[in-house]
Amino acid sequence: MTQHFAAMPLVAHIPDGQPGWRLVHCPECGAACWERPDIAEAKRVIPDLTECCTECAQKAGLPLDGTQIEGGEGVR
Ligand SMILES: [Zn+2]
Repeated sequence: MTQHFAAMPLVAHIPDGQPGWRLVHCPECGAACWERPDIAEAKRVIPDLTECCTECAQKAGLPLDGTQIEGGEGVR
């Protein structure tokens, strides 16, 4: 099964964020986190992209390093 997944940095970890980062809430746990522009871009290309915070990603054993596209064509 193809999994499209992006981990969003928690505001608790990076309080100030970066220019262009959008404040959103994790759909899993509701924590405030940052949607980076590359995640927003990936979401435009991949409608079924799953987003969650890095903590939920860690719990689920998913990769934390940026936008991860597993088994797909990839987004560069
Ligand atoms: Zn979460």
